[in-house]
Amino acid sequence: MTDAVRLESLHKTYDGGVTALGGVTATFAAGSFTAVMGPSGSGKSTLLQCAAGLDRPTSGRVFIDGTELTAVKDTPMTKFRRRRVGFVFQDYNLLPALTVEQNVLLPLRLAGLRADRARCRSVLGQLGLGERLHDRPEKLSGGQRQRVAIGRALVTEPAVIFADEPTGALDLRSAREVLTLLRAVVHEHGRTVVMVTHDPTAAAYADSVLFLADGCLAGALSAPTADAVAERLAHLGEVAA
Ligand code: ADP
Repeated sequence: MTDAVRLESLHKTYDGGVTALGGVTATFAAGSFTAVMGPSGSGKSTLLQCAAGLDRPTSGRVFIDGTELTAVKDTPMTKFRRRRVGFVFQDYNLLPALTVEQNVLLPLRLAGLRADRARCRSVLGQLGLGERLHDRPEKLSGGQRQRVAIGRALVTEPAVIFADEPTGALDLRSAREVLTLLRAVVHEHGRTVVMVTHDPTAAAYADSVLFLADGCLAGALSAPTADAVAERLAHLGEVAA
């Protein structure tokens, strides 16, 4: 089976000379849910940005669904990303002037695909938002907004969804709902999710956890529990909350 994402020896040094990634090699199997954790400044966001094609590594290669993202120029990379990669951000990044339905249809439009309203409505129905199609984001709670963002990430049926602290702005109950949905996206719908989080409870929803320290891989944990994750993090130098 093709890996959904393969990272080969990723290095990233920023203009100021900071090395954020010091050679990361990792694979994310299709149909898996992986959390990426590590102390602040360990390179988690940089890893996600490079893996998703939002930024380029200084060296190393990124493959999404068998296609080398790092081998193509910016325009085809953007095109590929729009079709094959989904994103969920901490602050939702919904467009306030668009309705729920229009926000979810947007990636299809940007990718030059048919704006399939039936599919959009079915996705939103599965996310419990079937009654909110014509509302604007300002009328929704944080948890509902994040569910719209998950719908938007799902609608193109991407090879992978990258989530950067998706529960960082949510209360406990909404966070649980969103994490349960992300699990269902993987286990019931067969998608692949890679999630950066600093929260051991959130990481415990994943199938496995990759730990980063100082821009390098610092271990992995399968079938993680929040306690086991917190313990590992403490050893990586982060004071577990
Ligand atoms: P994390 O997500 O684990 O907190 P980051 O990937 O954001 O870590 O950052 C890793 C390192 O790279 C840090 O030392 C950070 O200060 C640095 N860094 C991140 N983004 C930039 C940037 N745009 N320019 C310069 N340095 C950066």
